[in-house]
This record gives sequence, structure tokens and C-alpha cells, in this order.
Amino acid sequence: MIKSPRCQLSLVYLNRAETTPELNEIPLPKTLPHNMDHITEMPVTPYCGRFAPSPTGPLHAGSLVAALASWLDARANGGRWFLRIEDVDVPRSVPGAADQIRRQLLACGLEWDDEVPAQRVRTQHYQAALETLLDRQRAYACACTRKQLEGQPLASDGARRYPGTCREGLPAGIEGRAIRFKVQAGEVCFDDRWLGTQCLDVSQDCGDFVLLRADGWFAYQLAVVVDDAEQGVTHVVRGRDLLTSTPRQIQLLQALSYIVPSYMHVPLVLNAAGEKLSKQTQAPALVPEQASKDIYAAMKTLQLPMADDLERWPVAEQLGWAIQHWPHRA
Ligand SMILES: [Zn+2]
Repeated sequence: MIKSPRCQLSLVYLNRAETTPELNEIPLPKTLPHNMDHITEMPVTPYCGRFAPSPTGPLHAGSLVAALASWLDARANGGRWFLRIEDVDVPRSVPGAADQIRRQLLACGLEWDDEVPAQRVRTQHYQAALETLLDRQRAYACACTRKQLEGQPLASDGARRYPGTCREGLPAGIEGRAIRFKVQAGEVCFDDRWLGTQCLDVSQDCGDFVLLRADGWFAYQLAVVVDDAEQGVTHVVRGRDLLTSTPRQIQLLQALSYIVPSYMHVPLVLNAAGEKLSKQTQAPALVPEQASKDIYAAMKTLQLPMADDLERWPVAEQLGWAIQHWPHRA
């Protein structure tokens, strides 16, 4: 068991046929693992959200929108909010960035309830999940090189779609380089709290995706799913750039018999060229002196109603206004 803080401190296991009327009134998660239709695992503690930035650089106006949205949604719904530094991609992590992100969040008034362990110390949990998937024949070794996949069409995230070359096993004497998830064909649909129903066929989009990379690091998709589930996250609120990751993560959650959380994908901030703000597009880092201006801009992106002079209000008052006017009920 993990020793990190959890939102779901206890779980009630119920057979649906034996539920009492009172318990039936507790809303069920919208999506249940496909193999658990006779068992309902219901969180008895309410909303738990998180912000999970990668420490690849400081926060900018774009990442602030995702942070503010997930914080607001948690606070407006009486929930808890975790900070998790997603440093599973160790080679891309920048020394000092995690501390800078914490300082930037605090300058913007976004205080977290608990900080959960960095991903780099949680590899045994990802390894255990990987072994479960191998045991359940939902993962397999792949020997393909990047060069061999060069001619394949691009998936929604810009990576090459995997054609399933190694799905049925490797020839004798060939060593696997990576481990891939065996995705199921057919559309995965979920009810996005901002965008409405979203559907994507993962097998058509990216195909069997990587869980353990050829360089030995666990892939983002596996780490994020294991962390969200083990930390009891009930509501994922994040930027729309991750929208096409969600159907992949739902398939992974189901294959691991985890509860699927509820999702909301909020608008992205674009630069003058129409590109998503990011370190790659030279987005400037947030500075504490500008916190009110930055929160104001993020509130506009999140389509919150504006008050007179809101841009000049102290951060705490801006946040109070935003909680009061956040229209999304969990
Ligand atoms: Zn392969």
C-alpha cells in the first residue's frame, strides 16, 4: 500500500442487488470498469482533485489556467486538492523547477492540501501495475525501433501510430525493448464536464501505446493512471491538450480494475501564432508581482463572470469571487 495521503480513506463494497435505498442515493461514478459490473466500489469521502505539473520548467499563463481550474473546481465543490510533481520523465526534469512551481502556485494563492510523493520514488507501484497488465495479457514486449515505425501515420499526440507488429509475440531470439499496452478496439466514450460527451477509438488513433520505454523509464500514461487511482483522485481537471490521452487512460484504468474518475478539459491559452503556450513556444514564466493580473487572465480564459476592477483586486479576493461564480458542480 502507498503511504501517500489519500482522499478515499475507506471504500464501501456493495453488491448492487443488496444496496439500501439510502446508499443508492449516492451518485455512482459515471464509468465503471467493464469487469466490475456486479461490484460497486463507492468513495464515501467526497471530491478529491489534483494538479500534476511536470517539472520541465516554470509555470506560465497556460499552466496557470489548468492549475486554477482544478483548484477552483475542488474548492467550489468542497473538495481536497493535491499537488503532485510528475517527474516520471526524469531525463526531461529540470533541477529547481519543482520548487519554482510551488512558489509560483503560492504567489497565486493556490494552496494545496497535501503534497504527494514525486513519481521518481514510486516506481515500484508502476512496476506492480505493469506486472498485473502482463499477467492479464494486456501488455507485451515490443522490439520495434523508432526507425522501423517511421512510415506510420501520426497519432493525435504527434507520436507514430503503432501497427501492432509485436502483438502476437516476438520471434525466438529477439529481445523486447519496450512494453506496450494492448488496447481494445472500439470507441471509448466519456462525459467531459466542460465539453460534453467525447469519444475516441484508441486503436485507430495511436494503437498499442508504450508503458515502459526503451530507455527504461515508465511512460506518463501508466504513471498518471496508477497515481490518480492510488491517491483516490475522483475528479481530473486539466488542459485540453490532454483530451486524447483520456481514452487511453480510461482503458488502462479499466484493465487494472480501477475506478474511472470524472474528467473536465479546460480551454488552452494560445499565443499570437495560435500555438499552445508552452516552454517550446517560449511562454514567459509567471512572476509573483503579476499574480493578480495572471489570475485575472486565467479567470477570463475559464469564462468566469468579471467584476469591475477585478484585475486590480488582491489575489485572495479574486479567488473568493471565482469560487463563488464557478458554474461547474461535481
Ligand atoms: Zn513492436
